[in-house]
Amino acid sequence: MSRRPIVAGNWKMHGTVSSVEQLVNGLLESELSALNCDVAVCPPALYVAQVQQLVADSMINVGTQNCSPFEQGAYTGEISAKMSADIGCKYVILGHSERRTLFAESDEVIAEKVAAVLEAGLVPVFCVGETLEQREGNETLDVITQQLNVVADKIGNDKLVELVIAYEPVWAIGTGKTASPEQAQEVHAAIRRWLASRSESAAAEVRIVYGGSVKAANATELFAQADIDGGLIGGAALDANEFYQICKAAG
Ligand code: PEP
Repeated sequence: MSRRPIVAGNWKMHGTVSSVEQLVNGLLESELSALNCDVAVCPPALYVAQVQQLVADSMINVGTQNCSPFEQGAYTGEISAKMSADIGCKYVILGHSERRTLFAESDEVIAEKVAAVLEAGLVPVFCVGETLEQREGNETLDVITQQLNVVADKIGNDKLVELVIAYEPVWAIGTGKTASPEQAQEVHAAIRRWLASRSESAAAEVRIVYGGSVKAANATELFAQADIDGGLIGGAALDANEFYQICKAAG
């Protein structure tokens, strides 16, 4: 079964009104629509409305980088999954290692957020990944299985098919160190086996994307792997041409 690749840009906490306009215009001038690839950009929440307006007539989808586990109420500073849906987003990145480490998000909180995003009718881009210490201690697959199990137990196996899963080794994010295509494929294949143990349709349909210092120069080799269905792109997503070249490698 062939899965349509997806490439999503995680802009993290970068941008201004003018740089956002420039970046999106650069993407609109590229030939993304000719590619066999779903494309999404995830700006900081304050710029989502601006990006939505700019991409309105294009195939570029928009996502947010986080959401509250709560639906609404007295949660100062939070943004709900339903708000992301209301403004027209399609995706929400959840479980990113920066949220896990810098903002102490536990597997349980992430699972609640994944459930909230599904409830709002959006697609969670659910990130898993091991630290360097865990990789060197041969714990990679155990760590990832634990991260996956907590979410699956919360949402139920029937909902797994609605996820995009991002494998992002923590040691490769923003470091310039990329997992080799073989290292990445090994983990992606393990994630797909885990999906099969929960739901055959999820194993066949869920896109498992790789993230961690993906650039135009290494994207083709990574995306050629059987179980790598695209990428979650940080730094390189801030350059329109580089991001386009990565999408081209996927699609
Ligand atoms: C990310 O933040 O999801 C990421 C993969 O970052 P980078 O591409 O910069 O390593």
